[in-house]
Amino acid sequence: MEEIKTYEIYESPKKEANEEHFGNKSNSCICCGRPTADKLFIHASTHWVAVNTTEDDLSSIGMESQGTFPIGPECAKKFPKEFIFKKA
Ligand SMILES: [Zn+2]
Repeated sequence: MEEIKTYEIYESPKKEANEEHFGNKSNSCICCGRPTADKLFIHASTHWVAVNTTEDDLSSIGMESQGTFPIGPECAKKFPKEFIFKKA
């Protein structure tokens, strides 16, 4: 198994305004609140950091999953590639 890494989840200063404008939807980008195509997502732990692994591997280092969250292509650039997952 590869080493599990964490990465701070980027939050856009415009997130609140975007959520007000577009509404907080199930496909809203977790970073900026804009609607996404629902193709890219990040996996967050309950400590609210992105992790570069699937849910199963998290428990092996004593962390729990908060679930996966959609992310837009622009915000995805704020993360190293290994933290961005694609929906099949
Ligand atoms: Zn975004």
